[in-house]
Amino acid sequence: MASSRERSTPAKQLPDFDLVLFGGTGDLAMRKLLPALFRRYLAGQFPAHARIVGVARSGIERDDYLAQVEASSKKYLPAGLDAMRWTAFSRSLDYACLDATNASDYQKLAAKLANNPAAVRVFFLSTAPALFQIICQNLAAAGLVTAAARVVLEKPLGQDRASADNINQNVGAIFPERQIYRIDHYLGKEAVQNLLALRFGNSLFEPLWRRGRVRHVQITVAEELGVEGRGAFYDQTGALRDMVQNHLLQLLCIMAMEPPVSNHPDAVRDEKLKVLRALKPLLGADVDANVVRGQYRAGAVNGVPVAGYLEEEGIAPDSTTETFVAIKAHIDTWRWAGVPFYLRTGKRMQEQIAEIVIHFEDVPHSIFERVASAGANRLVISLQPRDSITLTILAKNPGETMRLRPVDLRLDMAESVKTPQLDAYERLLTDVIKGNLTLFMRRDELDAAWRWIDPLREAWMQSDERPKSYTAGSWGPAAASSLIGKDGYVWHGET
Ligand code: NAP
Repeated sequence: MASSRERSTPAKQLPDFDLVLFGGTGDLAMRKLLPALFRRYLAGQFPAHARIVGVARSGIERDDYLAQVEASSKKYLPAGLDAMRWTAFSRSLDYACLDATNASDYQKLAAKLANNPAAVRVFFLSTAPALFQIICQNLAAAGLVTAAARVVLEKPLGQDRASADNINQNVGAIFPERQIYRIDHYLGKEAVQNLLALRFGNSLFEPLWRRGRVRHVQITVAEELGVEGRGAFYDQTGALRDMVQNHLLQLLCIMAMEPPVSNHPDAVRDEKLKVLRALKPLLGADVDANVVRGQYRAGAVNGVPVAGYLEEEGIAPDSTTETFVAIKAHIDTWRWAGVPFYLRTGKRMQEQIAEIVIHFEDVPHSIFERVASAGANRLVISLQPRDSITLTILAKNPGETMRLRPVDLRLDMAESVKTPQLDAYERLLTDVIKGNLTLFMRRDELDAAWRWIDPLREAWMQSDERPKSYTAGSWGPAAASSLIGKDGYVWHGET
């Protein structure tokens, strides 16, 4: 996997679009969505008449809104802002003061969109999910839901299967499924695309991608951050619903799915759905044996002292909300029967990483005497901190004796392409405008994910046990190491 410094293909111009950003003054819009759109503008993808309309209740003027977006884009764009390009981009930016719950306010939006009825219309709902239904109903009542309209739903998509179903029914009453884009931004990451390319663009790995060849798989999404001022939200949610139900299960699907017959969105999503449906249910006592939940106490992350979860603002003093989860899961299919998939996520962990680690079987019989094989025959697909793929194999240690040691073959995406990579929201926003649903969750996928997750929470709710405590800045509770340790393995990165 030597890196060849290839130029990536120039991005194609997008079709004519109007993008209405509900929650246009919010944190997600300012920090991620608007900077992502600016970058796509810089890449030359915006058609001449593209428009972005930020929507919120604040009674500010358009100029004030532009100033807010400019200030936040300066902060969140690593390369800063080129003043001339920014001014040109800002001509496509507009603002509508609108209370999403007030039907008559939508006339303002209708007036703004009236002059381009044939354009792709994206309604990005970057608001609390409690507003999804009323926004969709009011959009329909104002006659804004055209055949070329799309609605984008941000997580959290429900608190459990029933509430997710409720959201889906309400949104589905207005928008057909092919016009609904449920975002999981992990699926927009370059490394996830690369995993698809690696698996389905090469014949090399397919024979190895199965039981008998793969010994076990680890999927980790670890954060150094705590609840960062979102304590009240997080305390009602927890790591299982905030991270496992969506990000980790989606990564598991991409890793484990069968080759789809094409890259058509439904062909890919059909295969992901089969993985979710084949997940062995964890019920009752299985939950104790296969799931570890943890909660961080005070500690230090990167040498900086940090408070414990229960001391954070907005957290109930006796909260049992989990900030860490580790799960041993099985996929009951011919390909994966008997292969453990260990999933792990947590806040206030030692390092910020997101990765899939595939451990292949050792050779059945070694002819070499001196082999330091630990960590070899391993493929690491890293999403964070860098997009990279590392295959660790055994090679001869230089010198007189025949001694083997692990060496890495590493593909670092940032080093191997000259043009900057798209961040996840850039890719996903352009996919919505292009009408490509491949990287968005279909309703039945969401349902299958909740169906597997709900019993875990139900078992916790019936238990008197508190989550296991772990020190902030560690790799989680000791029980998580034992979960994998009793099978003879260690978590990647944990010593
Ligand atoms: P936020 O900072 O609280 O922003 C909420 C936005 O919604 C504001 O622009 C607010 O403006 C607007 N809003 C609230 N009520 C409204 C109403 N009735 N009518 C019109 N606009 C209304 O929230 P956020 O962090 O951006 O998150 C938005 C959603 O994305 C949430 O569901 C969150 O869970 C999800 N999410 C956020 C992140 C993130 O990194 N922030 C990541 C993933 C998912 P006004 O108050 O002025 O109306």
